[in-house]
Amino acid sequence: MLDVRNIDVAYGDVQVIWDVSFRVGQGEIVAMIGANGAGKSTIMRTVSGVLRPGKGQILLAGEAIHNVEPYTLIEKGLAHVPEARRLFPEMSVEENLDMGSLRGRARKERARTKDRVFSIFPRLAERRRQASGTLSGGEQQMLAIGRGLMALPRLIMFDEPSPGLAPILVQDIFGVIRTVRDEGMTVLIVEQNVRQTLALCDRAYVLENGRITQEGAGADLLRDPHVKAAYLGV
Ligand code: ATP
Repeated sequence: MLDVRNIDVAYGDVQVIWDVSFRVGQGEIVAMIGANGAGKSTIMRTVSGVLRPGKGQILLAGEAIHNVEPYTLIEKGLAHVPEARRLFPEMSVEENLDMGSLRGRARKERARTKDRVFSIFPRLAERRRQASGTLSGGEQQMLAIGRGLMALPRLIMFDEPSPGLAPILVQDIFGVIRTVRDEGMTVLIVEQNVRQTLALCDRAYVLENGRITQEGAGADLLRDPHVKAAYLGV
């Protein structure tokens, strides 16, 4: 579904991603783990078209997308649930969801998808007319995910969906990620919460100083001595 080949990414003269390659197969949950500043969000922003790689290629279902505008990528089936929950704070919950489904099939299916989002997150249904800026942090995170789902993407990318959330809510959100995969979406997730993320994903890549240093099945990386020492505190 997603094939990232040998990309370099820089901010001005400062290169932060070095020759990174990874793949996300149809129906997989793939995670990218790494320390603060390793470059995880930079990779997400590059895949979603906000940044351009200096070299390399990014293919979505075989089609090169590294020179495509972000709004076009949504139509091609790629949704990005960003870290800084970029919602429209003055708009209601429902209006924010509508903004996730402006065109094409997503627009046609809007009512049905919205019902689905409200059934996944009943809290959002209760607050559908509330301004999103007044939601709690966890509710805003649910809304950001709901807005991503409204686009009916083939590939959905989650950038740190759990920081600052109560453990029970983290479990809920990881449960939702599993559900959307079981319904046919492909998932790429970046998370600080390494233990739970490795337990959730099928495969993961370890990113260190802008380079991929390890990859493997989530379950295998959970047992890996380097991963345990560096990311699991054991
Ligand atoms: P975290 O887990 O802390 O969010 P991350 O792995 O997502 O970290 P990035 O946000 O991708 O890391 O940052 C990678 C490197 O790029 C860091 O050294 C960061 O300072 C630098 N960087 C990020 N954004 C910019 C920017 N807009 N301009 C210049 N440097 C940047």
